Amino acid sequence: MRAYKIAVLPGDGIGPDVTKEAVKVLEALKKQDPTFDIAFEQFEWGSEYYLANGHIMPEDGLDQLKNFDAILFGAVGDKRVPDEITIWELIMPIRKNFQQYVNMRPIKRLAGIESPLKNEQPIDFMVFRENAEGEYSNIGGRLYQQHSQEMAIQNTVITKQGVERIAKYAFEYAQKNNKSKVTSATKSNAIIHSMKLWDEVVELVAKDYGDIELESNFIDALAAYFVLRPESFEVVIASNLFGDILTDLGAALVGGLGVSPSGNINPEGNFPSMFEAIHGSAPDIAGKGIANPIAQIWSAALMLNHLGREDLSTAIVEAIEQVIQDGKVLTPDLGGTSTTQEVGSAIAEKVLMLV
Ligand code: ATP
Ligand code: MG
Repeated sequence: MRAYKIAVLPGDGIGPDVTKEAVKVLEALKKQDPTFDIAFEQFEWGSEYYLANGHIMPEDGLDQLKNFDAILFGAVGDKRVPDEITIWELIMPIRKNFQQYVNMRPIKRLAGIESPLKNEQPIDFMVFRENAEGEYSNIGGRLYQQHSQEMAIQNTVITKQGVERIAKYAFEYAQKNNKSKVTSATKSNAIIHSMKLWDEVVELVAKDYGDIELESNFIDALAAYFVLRPESFEVVIASNLFGDILTDLGAALVGGLGVSPSGNINPEGNFPSMFEAIHGSAPDIAGKGIANPIAQIWSAALMLNHLGREDLSTAIVEAIEQVIQDGKVLTPDLGGTSTTQEVGSAIAEKVLMLV
């Protein structure tokens, strides 16, 4: 039996706390299931590392990571370190070099979670956010500085190949999971160059999946539909910026950042994929021991699914759901008084009964 090799980057703030709990749950599974082996190697690359060394990861950092089966990532962010460093010198190089062009974000309301919506309909859909191009390009600059006409230009990059591969991934996912509809977020009425190409390519890809409906919505309307009829979505595809905004909105509908996981997927499998809670380092609660580890534990479940252990992945999500429904061991963001460690342990114990 092969042991999965996982690179763990705990990061800053609450990152190490929640990541420790995710590893705890995976270790519990390893003890319980003789067909499952997993090994971890930890990399302390984050803001402390940057402040000590002047760079946030070693020069050969990507080389060190590239042969792992997957990466479990905490969060990076620290007020002493500019976001340009944490985002552009750690997160982006990993995402781009490892061609993690699909950002997968389940929006699923677990039983027992309170939603700000009165509507009690189940919410369970998947957002695939384009993760490698789009609005978050660093092409652009400032003109006429120190001048009253100062301006900034920031270019969006949408490529045919880039849209094609994310759209294909979404339709394939829809087909495999018996979904009947894919919703595309667009704004081609106003953003007439890049978003028109987005629409054209998505429509072209959709033709290969005749039994799956393509719904195309303008991002402004779609944001409203997320609130008004979230139960109607099955699979959503969006550009980098639109997907970022939609998934934070989606997270708010299903319990907030403390219970919102994600995966940065390299579909070809030639480089490791990376799994992380969508929240940041949460400096306001760092060190208090009250961060909710569920988002990170759920991200570890997405990782197991990606590694081919759908059974164990499902068991983790069920364990999370049961702990939430029991309502006894919850962090303050879900209305409880328990600590990060207590929630992690409760889920680790629960999962043992499910495998
Ligand atoms: P960063 O710059 O790293 O993104 P941030 O200041 O944006 O950090 P987030 O981590 O995105 O902070 O968190 C936003 C809010 O959500 C904060 O008030 C934070 O305390 C809360 N929050 C985030 N993650 C969790 C969690 N796992 N459990 C409980 N609360 C959380
Ligand atoms: Mg943030």
